[in-house]
Amino acid sequence: MSDVASPAVASGAAPSVGPVDARREHVVGAPLVEVRGLRKEYPIGGGFLGRARATVHAVAGVDLTIRSGETLGIVGESGCGKSTLGRCILRLTEPTSGAISFAGRDVLALSGAELREMRREMQIVFQDPYASLNPRMRIGAIVAEGIEIHHLARGAAKRRRVEELLEKVGLRPEHYDRYPHEFSGGQRQRVGIARALAVGPRFIVADEPVSALDISIQAQVLNLLRRLQEEMQLAYLFISHDLRVVEHVSHRVAVMYLGKIVEQAPREELYRNPCHPYTRALLSAVPVPDPRHRPERIRLGGDVPSPIHPPSGCAFHPRCPFAEERCRRETPALVEGAAEHAVACHVFPAPAR
Ligand code: SF4
Repeated sequence: MSDVASPAVASGAAPSVGPVDARREHVVGAPLVEVRGLRKEYPIGGGFLGRARATVHAVAGVDLTIRSGETLGIVGESGCGKSTLGRCILRLTEPTSGAISFAGRDVLALSGAELREMRREMQIVFQDPYASLNPRMRIGAIVAEGIEIHHLARGAAKRRRVEELLEKVGLRPEHYDRYPHEFSGGQRQRVGIARALAVGPRFIVADEPVSALDISIQAQVLNLLRRLQEEMQLAYLFISHDLRVVEHVSHRVAVMYLGKIVEQAPREELYRNPCHPYTRALLSAVPVPDPRHRPERIRLGGDVPSPIHPPSGCAFHPRCPFAEERCRRETPALVEGAAEHAVACHVFPAPAR
């Protein structure tokens, strides 16, 4: 038997992200990003005549919608496909099939020049603030790259714009001429956020943006992301293996397992009323301040199956303590019930409408 879940969840290594600003003054608007039936498969191993020996099913048919001004949190164990999903939406990785629309435009139909133009509106903040900044470039040049590529400003106007961005993310204009190694992890992540904001995006994929940071710094960066969202009506796809972090920043949360969304709901609904056994197992492993209010721990059997040979039926069945015969044969669909709560499970469906 193995305990469930993500390293942070399972180990209890991160009991608190600190004083995250609790204000939720946001206006959620119309659907901005719509994803339907998205798949990403990686053929592996050159067999006879170069044929693939096997296929990794990294994203196995995902539907989701993100509205303007909204954060959709994606949570799941390492290797569940959540980062691949984010990269596919931005077309940093080409999906195998499916449909993606952004503000009503078909993202997968865009040509090179059109895609470059759309990238102004769709940006990414990477996980590792140490590896994602070029150590040989000054901070000002890093933040200005997008401004130059998209011809948004030149000369003194460009510098002014970069300095304003540095101030917006809590750095100082005089940081313009410094190098990444002169900054802490939290400051570097602020530079990464300024770089993403430089081209005026409406949507940002934040891929584990605080998981490389000290606990004491995580809340500062999360508060910054939320403040920027309120000021600029940004939409985020916030990817994390850490349920506590996702709870703090998300308006809605989707739980991924082996390339599929198995549960999705507004944040309060999901944390108060989790239905899918995988979600319940993840939540039961989260450290809580008062042990009397800890839900009964659900321990899962077995290891995470390989995405090369996902189990038949419900992919979670080899680890699920509630699996029935039907679970081994039939793949449960993600079905929405009351309160925008959707669950993919034969035994524990979403609450009835
Ligand atoms: Fe468990 Fe069956 Fe539900 Fe899958 S469908 S989560 S195996 S009860």
